[in-house]
Amino acid sequence: LAKERGKNNYQFYTLAMTERSLERMTIERGLRRALANNELRVHYQPQIDLASGLATCVEALVRWQHPEWGLVYPDRFIGVAEETGLIVPIGAWVLSTACKQVKSWHEHDGPFSAVAVNLSARQFLENNLYQTVKQTLVETGLNPSALELEITESAVMQDPENTLKVLQQLRELGVTLSIDDFGTGYSSLTYLRRFPVQSVKIDQTFVADISNDEGCRTLVSAIIALTHELKLNVIAEGVETEEQLAFLSKQRCDSLQGYIFSRPETSATLENEFKATQFKTQLHRYN
Ligand code: C2E
Ligand code: MG
Ligand code: MG
Ligand code: MG
Repeated sequence: LAKERGKNNYQFYTLAMTERSLERMTIERGLRRALANNELRVHYQPQIDLASGLATCVEALVRWQHPEWGLVYPDRFIGVAEETGLIVPIGAWVLSTACKQVKSWHEHDGPFSAVAVNLSARQFLENNLYQTVKQTLVETGLNPSALELEITESAVMQDPENTLKVLQQLRELGVTLSIDDFGTGYSSLTYLRRFPVQSVKIDQTFVADISNDEGCRTLVSAIIALTHELKLNVIAEGVETEEQLAFLSKQRCDSLQGYIFSRPETSATLENEFKATQFKTQLHRYN
């Protein structure tokens, strides 16, 4: 009986494995086609400066407009893109699209003047990230100060020496650098001091627990105090409730990003619905 069960387990296991690798193969093949057929999209989410109530910067977030599945979110395909290396051409496309968008906002009096783009570890391991960024800035004519690059601690950790070298080169170009999902990785404190970053994004899991977890509130306050001590800018992501907003405001967090202000939207939607001053009224009671 045990043997029988073992065999069933084995069959179950291989079946699950097969389904997983089938899904991955489908995603991989789909992503190649997505790149060729222009199925990728970039949505933008405003980041609100607490002191002024203004949003100047948006984060660029990739989506996949699949012909049958509809709009697919990055959690479903970024992992496969990273493993297969497809994140390199996808990342280059997102970067170029985001830079063109902001350049066009500069020229046509659009609602936002800067953009933050996510980078994967895999893009740092390729030799030409610096060249790609430099070339994209030249081709789009975008002022480097209008571009921010977000990188996670875990990406830094895959090859700290090389990453540090590339970050320094990127910094010399004049782009801004930030650490994304801060607090979820390992050597946060050491690397904060060593890496040429200008801002830190508090991970949304901490923000989510502000209302019901005192330890979490302490942690968030400590991160804000620490980043200010290091003369860095601090932004909280995933802000959804008035309570979180009030707490972060009281702690003097610099900027906020989250559904309470806006979900990530297409550039067209943002152009139609947003005035740069829109968030002022929403925030005045916290300042
Ligand atoms: P991230 O860079 O930490 O981006 C923040 C994520 O939180 C986004 O999810 C955003 O839509 C979501 N979010 C924003 N406000 C709220 C809120 O108030 N509540 C909740 N629950 N969520 C909120 P999204 O767009 O699904 O992206 C997920 C992750 O995929 C990103 O996390 C980033 O790590 C990755 N990603 C997205 N676009 C790119 C890209 O172009 N390149 C790379 N390498 N990674 C990307
Ligand atoms: Mg990000
Ligand atoms: Mg994040
Ligand atoms: Mg994240």
